[in-house]
Amino acid sequence: MIDFSLTDEQKALQELARDFAQNEIAPVAPELDRTGAYPYDLLNQAHKLGLLNLTIEDAYGGGGLGWLEACIVGEELAAACAGVTTAANANELALTPLHLAASEEQKEKFIAPIARDGGLAAFCVTEPGAGSDVVAMRTRAVKSGDEYVLNGTKHFITNGAVAHLLTVFAVTDPEKKHRGMSLFAVPADTPGITRTHMGEKMGHRASDTAEIVFQDARVPAANLIGKEGDGFKVAMETFDRTRIGIGAAGVGVARAALEASLKFVKERQQFGQPVANFQGLQFMLADMSIKIETARLAIYYAAWLTDHKLPYAYASAIAKAYGSDVAMEVTTDAVQLHGGYGYMADYKVEKYMRDAKLLQIYEGTNQIQRVIIARALLKD
Ligand SMILES: Cc1cc2nc3c(=O)[nH]c(=O)nc-3n(C[C@H](O)[C@H](O)[C@H](O)COP(=O)(O)OP(=O)(O)OC[C@H]3O[C@@H](n4cnc5c(N)ncnc54)[C@H](O)[C@@H]3O)c2cc1C
Repeated sequence: MIDFSLTDEQKALQELARDFAQNEIAPVAPELDRTGAYPYDLLNQAHKLGLLNLTIEDAYGGGGLGWLEACIVGEELAAACAGVTTAANANELALTPLHLAASEEQKEKFIAPIARDGGLAAFCVTEPGAGSDVVAMRTRAVKSGDEYVLNGTKHFITNGAVAHLLTVFAVTDPEKKHRGMSLFAVPADTPGITRTHMGEKMGHRASDTAEIVFQDARVPAANLIGKEGDGFKVAMETFDRTRIGIGAAGVGVARAALEASLKFVKERQQFGQPVANFQGLQFMLADMSIKIETARLAIYYAAWLTDHKLPYAYASAIAKAYGSDVAMEVTTDAVQLHGGYGYMADYKVEKYMRDAKLLQIYEGTNQIQRVIIARALLKD
């Protein structure tokens, strides 16, 4: 009934992702972190290797795989660089609403140029006044003949300035609150769209974060995905899936921090011996490992539920919150284990600690995950 072994295909995918992550991403991760340069080349290579858009249907260029495979790959990429992983994951986040709700014709038109041809996409929900409270969004889409006219501002949008396609959530009927929100596929070069890089970030500096302003941006009515009013439901269903991947990225970052710490404590000598000899540090290492192993199980479980079409929202909230909390705790301990060296940019663990923080914030803060979990617990 329970089988914890990966299939041969899953093992091969894991090895492919690990080789790519360690040989191609890891060597340039410090440079990307320093410069904030967007990793176009790496994403191109990842696309050619089949490591992007894994859960999107293969008929449109995706991997045609499950969330378990996406999490296996996500952990490997994040163990090399969380910023590159965020840039890569943003595509899947943007394409998932189309995968869930678009017609076949729309999938061919909007998903294929991204997934098949290696384009970039961005998922646009958050606004200056609407973060956790998605329903507070003010971006309007008003029907005008056979077009919709979009006005409003989205911000904190990953891939926002570099994407070819934007999946945009906008209000079509303000009276209906969450039932008045709709989803549009919007080519990024649509007149009336201005995209601006936002300021410097604490971590994930290889990913692009942009503000997008829509000023009388007109899209064909045929770009409405699903029906008017479907937007909120599709956005929530998307998050329920993609946030498992944030937990997986957390495990990747935490694993890298533990590996760096194990190497360091065996080499660093104090009081005439390696600091690894001190039991106080050994217990910290053991706790780090306990957290990583249990987080991975929570993530695989949520992914398995999703792939088997079983109720997964509660498990995915746990996977996201726990995986990212573990990343924050383990990376903080990794810095502590390194002493003063851990605080210096020459040692990788300070980057891991900065990168871990965002995982607790985006795709629903960990407070919001706890709201979801508590709501499920308290439901009659
Ligand atoms: C680098 C980066 C990339 C991002 N990428 C994207 C993207 O690609 N697309 C996109 O649409 N968005 C993106 N986001 C936005 C991200 O999802 C939001 O920042 C996040 O959902 C939180 O919203 P907020 O920042 O407005 O914080 P707020 O919602 O203002 O939260 C402030 C604080 O209040 C807490 N809080 C809020 N409501 C509750 C509640 N009901 N109960 C308890 N606590 C609560 C929060 O947990 C937080 O601690 C990104 C953000 C960042 C920083």
